[in-house]
Amino acid sequence: MIYLDYQATTPLAPEARDAMLPWLSGPEAMGFANPHSPHRPGRAAAAAVEVAREQVASLLPAGGRVIFTGSATEALNLAIQGNGATGLAVSAIEHAAVLDTARAVQPDIAILPVGADGLVAADTPLPEGVELVAVMQVNNEIGTIQPVAKLAHAAHQAGALFLCDAVQGAGKLAAPAEADMIALSAHKLYGPKGIGALWVRDGITLMPLIHGGGQEQGLRSGTLVPALCAGFGMAAKLARERMDEDAAHVAVLWQAARAILSDWTLNGSERQRWHGNLNLWRDGLDVARLMSDLRDVAFSAGSACASGSGRTSHVLTAIGLTAAQAKSSIRLGFGRYSTLTEIEDACAKIRAAAATQGV
Ligand code: PLP
Repeated sequence: MIYLDYQATTPLAPEARDAMLPWLSGPEAMGFANPHSPHRPGRAAAAAVEVAREQVASLLPAGGRVIFTGSATEALNLAIQGNGATGLAVSAIEHAAVLDTARAVQPDIAILPVGADGLVAADTPLPEGVELVAVMQVNNEIGTIQPVAKLAHAAHQAGALFLCDAVQGAGKLAAPAEADMIALSAHKLYGPKGIGALWVRDGITLMPLIHGGGQEQGLRSGTLVPALCAGFGMAAKLARERMDEDAAHVAVLWQAARAILSDWTLNGSERQRWHGNLNLWRDGLDVARLMSDLRDVAFSAGSACASGSGRTSHVLTAIGLTAAQAKSSIRLGFGRYSTLTEIEDACAKIRAAAATQGV
């Protein structure tokens, strides 16, 4: 099986897995202790959580705090709902975790459009009375890298805070240093599923969504999971150390894949992108048939929404594709553990399978 779905989730790095194991150990080793307990095993678990917090913070700007959450979705909910802002402006290509949360707070949010290149123009006017602007760092469907520094500056000029969903950019690109809040997810940077984080700039106050024991500085009650924190921390440390190497690796793979599928149309900017994402369409392609013909290649239909409902992608329609073009798009996602041979093999198979459809 060739795995080409790195935007959906990344493999767990062996180093992250090893960092988790002591906190999953049996009764003798006491790695199971509650990190909020005052006894020695509890304090050891709490210390591991704090090491992890520092490791995650090393991917983020100085001058803020890291709140562990159960996912990036939860982190984004905390940022948007916990902020109390009602004048919301978000890009047209945000993940549902931002779009749907913002709409739950304010049904008539302002939508910042994107061009055919999948980028929000840095000089996009912001609506009167805007209080919170949310634009992602890297889009999960088409890989475009947004001009977040300029957009954050514009938000601040308008008197608003800037939230950045950095789920697909964290550990791959420098942090969006101008943002006021940044959401991350461990399982998109070779860490475990079930843990995310919200970075909050010092001085910004949030209201908790989850009440209880007052963990995570009162913002996210519930017992922390030291194994997940340790895995997230190690994954963040590794991502930071390997940032240039990982980027150079995917750039080589991207060029190889693009060369094999050179007559397919690329979705999103060629230059302003994370090269671990290649989203393409081919006129008349039946993606469902392609997927069933290629059972040993795990890739994604570019058009399906995250829930797999088959709805046309709001991202692909926002960049100007027709519903038919969006439905003939595929997303290939690769990363640290993908090899050139795998990419060449998979793309040749995709090409050959598409040819059997006459496209
Ligand atoms: N934001 C983006 C850009 C994503 O790609 C995802 C996951 O697909 C999320 C948010 C949600 O992350 P999580 O799975 O941690 O809730």
